[in-house]
Amino acid sequence: MLETHIQDLNIQRLLGLTALDLYVPGMNFVFGEARLPGKVGVVSTYRLKPKSLKSIGILEERVLKEAVHEIGHMLGLKHCLNGSCVMYFSERLSDTDRKMTEFCDTCRPKVEMIRVE
Ligand SMILES: [Zn+2]
Ligand SMILES: [Zn+2]
Repeated sequence: MLETHIQDLNIQRLLGLTALDLYVPGMNFVFGEARLPGKVGVVSTYRLKPKSLKSIGILEERVLKEAVHEIGHMLGLKHCLNGSCVMYFSERLSDTDRKMTEFCDTCRPKVEMIRVE
């Protein structure tokens, strides 16, 4: 488990990236998961992949959004109801594609507070 691993390495936070499909009890699948708040999180590229190789750039953008989302959880942020905020919960790919790579005006100050501490 990542959590025991980073204790030895003296790392503050760690985000894993996997090509494997991720499941959480009670849900079909998730794009990512993180402790809230916590030191470890993981993002799966499995369901973020575009159908066509021509649109491979969109994979990078989706991974970035889900990575920022999981880092947000690790910092203690919960899901946001703003559909364009990166902390919006993506149930399907269209949710991920609609949201920004950034925090909304409500979530951003929370992140900035954490940075100051
Ligand atoms: Zn989430
Ligand atoms: Zn937000």
